[in-house]
Amino acid sequence: MSFDSLCLTDELRRAIAAQGYRSPTPIQAQAIPAILDGRDVLAGAQTGTGKTAAFTLPMLQRLGERQTGHQRPRALVLTPTRELAAQVGESIVTYGRYLPLRSAIIFGGVGIQPQIAQLRRGVDIVVATPGRLLDHVGQRTLDLSGIEILVLDEADRMLDMGFIHDIRRVLRLLPTNRQSLLFSATYSNEIEQLANGLLRDPVTIAV
Ligand code: AMP
Repeated sequence: MSFDSLCLTDELRRAIAAQGYRSPTPIQAQAIPAILDGRDVLAGAQTGTGKTAAFTLPMLQRLGERQTGHQRPRALVLTPTRELAAQVGESIVTYGRYLPLRSAIIFGGVGIQPQIAQLRRGVDIVVATPGRLLDHVGQRTLDLSGIEILVLDEADRMLDMGFIHDIRRVLRLLPTNRQSLLFSATYSNEIEQLANGLLRDPVTIAV
C-alpha cells in the first residue's frame, strides 16, 4: 500500500516524502481514512507503530480544509508527559510544514508567560499536558470553546498517572459537537469507561 491511496493533500504528501516514508504503517492505513471521514476513533497502538502520524496527518488535513484566522484553537492533543507533548508538537511542525497552521506546546515545570504570549498571538493546535492546560483555562489565557478535534494520546498512561479528574474537567470545557480520538497502548475497564463517555460510534482499530 502507498500513501497515494489515502487521499492526503499535496502539502501533506510532500511533507511525508521529505521524511522518507514509503508506505503507511498499519495503524496509519486504518486510522487516516476514518479520521478524514470525521469518525471518532479508538485505537490500540504502542509507541513505534507510527501512531503520531496516524492522528497528526488527518488532523492537519481537516484543519487545513478551512481557514479561520487562528482566532481560537481548533484541535487539542492531550499527552501524559512533557516529553510526549514536545514530540507530538515536533511532528505537527514536521508534517504541517507546508500548511499555514500554528501550534503551541503547553506543559508545566517551565514559565507560563512565554506560553501566554504564544497563545495570545493565536494558535490552531494546542498540544498539552492536562495540569498546565487547566492552569491556562483558569487564568483565561486559553479558550477551548472552539475545539473541533480532541486527541487523547497514550490515554492509559494518563490514567496511570492519575489524570482522570483533570481529563474529565477538560472534557467539560469542550464543545460536545467534535471529533474525538483515543489512542492507548493497553485496554482496561478504565479506558473502556473513558472511551464510552467520550467517543461517538467509534471506529475501533487494533494493531
Ligand atoms: P510513533 O509510533 O508515532 O512514535 O512513531 C515511531 C517512528 O516511526 C517515528 O520516528 C516516525 O518518524 C516513524 N514513522 C512514522 N510513520 C512512518 C512511516 N509511514 N514510514 C516510516 N517511518 C515512519
